[in-house]
Amino acid sequence: MNDEKNIVEMSESSVPAEDLSRRKRINRIKKCIIGTVVFVVAVCILSSVLLLGRVIVLEKQLKSAREETAKWEEIARFYGFSQSPKEFEIGEGGTIVGATAMPDSNPFDMDSLIENNSHNENDTYYIYLTFDDGPGENTEEILKILREYDVKATFFSVGKDDEDSRRLYSEIIQAGHTLGMHSYSHKYGEIYKSSEAFLADLQKIRGLIADETGKVPVYYRFPGGSSNNVASKEKILQFTEILHTQGIEYIDWNIDSKDASDKKLTAEDIVNNVFKDFGKYHNNVVLLHDGSGHSATVEALPLIIERARNMGAVLVPITENTVPVQHLTK
Ligand code: ZN
Repeated sequence: MNDEKNIVEMSESSVPAEDLSRRKRINRIKKCIIGTVVFVVAVCILSSVLLLGRVIVLEKQLKSAREETAKWEEIARFYGFSQSPKEFEIGEGGTIVGATAMPDSNPFDMDSLIENNSHNENDTYYIYLTFDDGPGENTEEILKILREYDVKATFFSVGKDDEDSRRLYSEIIQAGHTLGMHSYSHKYGEIYKSSEAFLADLQKIRGLIADETGKVPVYYRFPGGSSNNVASKEKILQFTEILHTQGIEYIDWNIDSKDASDKKLTAEDIVNNVFKDFGKYHNNVVLLHDGSGHSATVEALPLIIERARNMGAVLVPITENTVPVQHLTK
């Protein structure tokens, strides 16, 4: 035992002190390097795990966003809305630029809309041509075409005080068409502010039309439809109450010709949009526009009438016999 101990002591003491300290230094550096590597690897693993978690969360969000988009696209396709709900602005004179309807805050009951309009007593396909935002530069021409084809339609007009517009309100009624209201100002920000504002605007347009034509209008179309994304569903229901207490019914549409979309459509596009889903409903309320910038609508009108007749559909104005097409239900 003693001999072995002596050998060990001898071998250690035989290593020079300088070498020993160098070896210790190398060991320290080695430990340092290993420590650093372990630390870096640990950090990498940790951040990978964190990133993976984040990716999973983001993927989930992306999936639900995609599903939401697909849902709205389907609704948009179904109703012929061509714009996303955010893409619209209020143009000059309060008219809406871009979108004609924005199914954003007021999702409507599609089943009841189909249910209410897919049948009628005589199993006839009715087409209600409705013209919004006039009187305008195309109203005269549209009245002329309707007269030539002996078709009665519906005009949802806004408030205009000039002589030509006043005359056109009367001409619409005298020609046997239905003249409905589409608000006086067509300014979403004003009419949809409160019940008081809505009622004040309603009284203004009703008063103007009644004074001018001697006939009190009983149909109303909300600017942007009852499914517009400016007024909440609760507000629209309040406004509907107001309309009902005044003996007025509101009418939306279930066929959008898209003649007011951002993209300039040809007359042929408009005709195709009108008949794209023909057969789905027995009561087809078609959204068209007679205001300025809608010359393609004028061009499309004879084609729409001819095609409707060829398909055996009956073109009628909105009357008390019409089942109201409404986007919103309680
Ligand atoms: Zn409008």
